[in-house]
Amino acid sequence: MNEFDFIRKIREQTRLRGASPDLLRGIGDDAAVFKSAPGSNLVITTDLLIEDIDFRHHTTMPGLLGHKALAVSLSDIAAMGARPRWAMLSLGLQAAIWDSGFADRFYEGFFGLADRYSVKLIGGDVSRAPERTVIDSLVIGECSPDRAVLRSGAKPGDQIYVTGFLGDATAGLRLLERGARLHGSREVLDPTLDDETSEVHPIDRLLLRQLKPEPRVGWGILLGDSQLATAMIDLSDGLSSDLNHLCTESNVGALIDASLIPIDPLVRDVCGRRALDPLMLALHGGEDFELLFTVDPQAAAKLPKRVDGVALTRIGEITTVSSGVQICEGSRVWNLEPGGWEHFKG
Ligand code: ADP
Ligand code: MG
Repeated sequence: MNEFDFIRKIREQTRLRGASPDLLRGIGDDAAVFKSAPGSNLVITTDLLIEDIDFRHHTTMPGLLGHKALAVSLSDIAAMGARPRWAMLSLGLQAAIWDSGFADRFYEGFFGLADRYSVKLIGGDVSRAPERTVIDSLVIGECSPDRAVLRSGAKPGDQIYVTGFLGDATAGLRLLERGARLHGSREVLDPTLDDETSEVHPIDRLLLRQLKPEPRVGWGILLGDSQLATAMIDLSDGLSSDLNHLCTESNVGALIDASLIPIDPLVRDVCGRRALDPLMLALHGGEDFELLFTVDPQAAAKLPKRVDGVALTRIGEITTVSSGVQICEGSRVWNLEPGGWEHFKG
């Protein structure tokens, strides 16, 4: 298959997914043309995945990579409190990977996730890479005027919340590094299935938290529309790093309580058997793609308990900048230094 056959095929797949009145020109021209809703703000983000830095071909599958490439960008859009609408995807592939049919399976995973949120693929690029696969994913979202949730809006006294569990993705990465592989059940191989609701082997569930992260799109839209979050960031580097980013941008400090941090019982179990500290994974492990946000205590009662089956946990409170970013464990309090990506780089 040459490049042009390939583009024709992708174009046909987007055509089969139906027209959208606000898409004036998708794949097939020099650029895409779309209308944004009158008065809405556009939100745009891009992410790179590089072979052997962000993933390894021998521990994942093309469909899972297609899912993950989109998921990481959807997570950024969610962290802005916006609704994802349009995607562009660019691939640099070695000749052997191109010949293996990688792209077809990659786009299966990509569309599996895109379709769940009605995100339209409107273009991209493809080229040959000499040595390593390169994937660039761009997503455009929309939000109501001036409703984007920034990192900079947290105020002393605000409560700090996270969605889901922390540390799972790094636990999954540790298992992959020690040789664990997906069992290859139908649920695992079907990139369109939602593993959080389907029956998956417990170890596969952790591996998939690393290989097939679920962006918190529903929470992002809700928190943006309701204006309940005063500041927000997605947990891509790790809680310690990302909380520090949010506090720096907001010019505040924070105090979180180690005993409140949501850790999946499965992660505790896996860590216990492998001499890993679950709290360290939850504090410094990256790629959970959960949302971390702050809420005025007066408004906290309005937060829903769950969105799309994903629960919230309050983990601490915003303080003044002079007290820094701290964590308490019982009566002990220490500074929470940003330690995410340095220690846990894949
Ligand atoms: P150019 O030479 O101007 O870059 P291309 O032949 O690469 O044009 O692209 C033609 C059309 O195909 C464009 O609409 C582009 O967005 C789309 N396209 C190219 N590669 C991809 C891809 N990997 N995924 C989706 N659309 C793509
Ligand atoms: Mg091109």
